[in-house]
Amino acid sequence: MNKNKYLIAANWKQNCDSKSSIKLINDFVKLFNKTKPKCDVLILPPSIYLNTILIRLNKLKVSLKKISLGIQNISPFLNGAYTGEISVDMAKDFKCSYSLIGHSERRHVFMEDDKIISAKTKLSLESGMNTILCVGETIVEYNQKQTKKVISRQLKSALLKSKDLFKSNQDKIIIAYEPVWAIGSGKTASLDDIADVHAYIRNTLNKILGTKKNTIKILYGGSVNDLNAASILDIPDVNGALVGGASLNSKKFIDICSSI
Ligand code: PEP
Repeated sequence: MNKNKYLIAANWKQNCDSKSSIKLINDFVKLFNKTKPKCDVLILPPSIYLNTILIRLNKLKVSLKKISLGIQNISPFLNGAYTGEISVDMAKDFKCSYSLIGHSERRHVFMEDDKIISAKTKLSLESGMNTILCVGETIVEYNQKQTKKVISRQLKSALLKSKDLFKSNQDKIIIAYEPVWAIGSGKTASLDDIADVHAYIRNTLNKILGTKKNTIKILYGGSVNDLNAASILDIPDVNGALVGGASLNSKKFIDICSSI
């Protein structure tokens, strides 16, 4: 596996204000320039601060090819009377090249179902965005050994309806496996479980695509930190990480990026 191809994504969620988001990106860029990590880096700030971060990256002369910008959520509609929503094209206006779809907080706190996530995936791919589709089981499903069944359903419902689009945009889709119980809990899935589920995802993608091999990136997310990143990123079929809490600390986040 070419280590340059790893993707480490920072999901800032609903954290920071204008001042602290500038400080966080300033601190991170300083460390980034010093350590020059080999991975692709993606920052997903709260959408209201996208422009602030974009201006800051420009000022710091950071190419958006080195540190990309993404949006944490998009509207399932292209445009129109949908109060409070942000369309994929609006995100592109602020130089977002990635969208995050189906994060467990969207699925479980905001009750987004497979249908909504499928519509968002389609819109995102149609717009040419790199699309990170999150999948993962709850603790109840994990205890009932339903993990693979849940993931298969989530992948198929999001990708099968847009199968041709998915087939012709394989380089634009990224899967993030995030066990719901591991997000923000300080608990990570075991290395064996991560390896098993990532291999299962790879295989399921092959079946959907009707191929024997695919190079779709599969990220792991769920309490990744500077101490556990290296062993998780070393697992076959783990091509990067989606990082929440630890991405709010520039030192921890650069250490994760540098652990490849
Ligand atoms: C996430 O937000 O996707 C995430 C994995 O959060 P954390 O790293 O805090 O578990």
